[in-house]
Amino acid sequence: MSRNFIFLGPPGSGKGTQAKVLAERLGIPHISLGDILRAEVKQNSAIGQRAKEFMNAGKLVPDELTIELTEKRISQPDCRPGFIIDGFPRSTAQADALDKMFKDKKLALEAVIYFHVSEEETVKRLLLRAEIEGRADDNASAIRTRFEVYEKSTRPLIEHYKKMGKLKEIDAARTIEEIGRDLAKL
Ligand code: AMP
Repeated sequence: MSRNFIFLGPPGSGKGTQAKVLAERLGIPHISLGDILRAEVKQNSAIGQRAKEFMNAGKLVPDELTIELTEKRISQPDCRPGFIIDGFPRSTAQADALDKMFKDKKLALEAVIYFHVSEEETVKRLLLRAEIEGRADDNASAIRTRFEVYEKSTRPLIEHYKKMGKLKEIDAARTIEEIGRDLAKL
């Protein structure tokens, strides 16, 4: 049976870092929608050209784009043993589309790992990352928009997955090592 996970949490919660570690340990792909979109922007593809403005402003790129990219990615042969999706779904429409993909492909969702952390802590981390990585959307205005988008569009998904009985909450205010140890118990 394949092992499929979703990592959910606010920007700067550390879910990307942990998704990478767990994916490597389980030998399954780490699918970061943000990384996929940044690669499209870098290639200046048609998708990248459409997505760029939304990303730089900290807004969600249109659902139909991310849904299509996700469907394509999880259909690749390397996803057969399982996968970790990080940064998708981020809206109810995306979550409904993903539920349908799982149903159509007869996949089982093992767990949604929710990274719980205060906004104050994540803003600190994002500003630090801005200095280190220089991401175009790690400036104060885009960070604020990303939090607003998270609160309005993504936070409701916690309830969606709780109702499905899939939500597992992680205290993400701790160190990378401590969180990693929790995830290793999965
Ligand atoms: P991330 O690297 O996950 O923080 O994503 C960076 C940016 O990519 C986000 O601020 C959005 O503009 C865009 N993005 C990533 N994932 C999604 C998604 N599931 N839906 C819409 N936009 C997304």
